[in-house]
Amino acid sequence: MSNAPILLTPGPLTTSSRTRQAMMVDWGSWDQEFNQLTASLCEQLLAIVNGADSHHCVPLQGSGTFAVEAAIGTLVPRDGKVLVLINGAYGQRLAKICKVIGRAYSTFETAEDEPTTAADVDRLLAADPAITHVALIHCETSTGILNPLPEIAQVIARHGKRLIIDAMSSFGALPIDAAQVPFDALIAASGKCLEGVPGMGFVFANKASLAAAAGNSPSLAMDLQDQHAYMAKTGQWRFTPPTHVVAALHEALLQYNEEGGLPARHQRYASNCKVLLDGMAAIGLRSFLPAEIQAPIIVTFHAPNDPRYQFKDFYERVKAKGFILYPGKLTQVETFRVGCIGVVGPDGMQAAVNAVAQVLREMEVLDI
Ligand SMILES: *Cc1c(COP(=O)(O)O)cnc(C)c1O
Repeated sequence: MSNAPILLTPGPLTTSSRTRQAMMVDWGSWDQEFNQLTASLCEQLLAIVNGADSHHCVPLQGSGTFAVEAAIGTLVPRDGKVLVLINGAYGQRLAKICKVIGRAYSTFETAEDEPTTAADVDRLLAADPAITHVALIHCETSTGILNPLPEIAQVIARHGKRLIIDAMSSFGALPIDAAQVPFDALIAASGKCLEGVPGMGFVFANKASLAAAAGNSPSLAMDLQDQHAYMAKTGQWRFTPPTHVVAALHEALLQYNEEGGLPARHQRYASNCKVLLDGMAAIGLRSFLPAEIQAPIIVTFHAPNDPRYQFKDFYERVKAKGFILYPGKLTQVETFRVGCIGVVGPDGMQAAVNAVAQVLREMEVLDI
């Protein structure tokens, strides 16, 4: 495995061998030990957001989007209306979920390099009293932009509305305190900043809101209220649990805590991001976002403005040197992305920058 490339992507990402090793056991879903693993997982996850008093942690099988769709379908009543704040592809996906599951919604879209502001939300809520919920992406992974969650959450609470946060790519690395940031639901998944393997999401759902959500969900399998009620009663998942994913995430959380928890994880990713930004700037590659709104999760770079540059070729050559990059997701400008998350440190990031420089020289795109 040591010569497998490092994934500089927003998930799946590089995991430790210890985490992968934890999947070498076949657990039974009725097994008391497995149920304890799930319970311990939920307890540890809640502690990361300081949410034990106010929220339940409801795990769900599937990729992150499954949990987002489940949260909206479960917590937004059938006669509710969602204001969706958009500055990238994941925000667009929130609106699409509302559309597909039949929840009324409106959208507010800013440019991909422009955070939504609390003032925007204040104005939008004042203008439309039908809105019951606001849905927001914390770190919009399509660029790496950070939206000002605490300020927006305060405005929403002041209006007496409810907040649903997609914190998929920030949870575990950027601080969010449930006692300071009021939310109805915060959604994340196993295979991002916690450095587990992909396969399950989890939703921190406000206890009172979840209790009042029976019958809201348009789906049986994605009904978080039912999932939680069954789990509270039996200790088991409602349907076949992703046993190996749970075991891997549990092991990944042990390492998260050994590393020093959120502050340490944040620090490592911030160091990764700095090495990446400085190194790429030194070889003439510009980042798409200004530093003030760049989250230390994933960085979008402008592609070299040279006809000899093709992403596919670039990607394959960098992969041959041990690093997997990510394509850009912007429609207007040619970009590529590099993740700062996963089991990788500043030395690894420097090696990635060196590989990129070497490849661009080979492609005769860079003359340094
Ligand atoms: C990764 C991610 C998701 C979930 O994507 P899946 O492909 O379903 O795992 C949702 N929102 C954001 C912001 C993400 O980064």
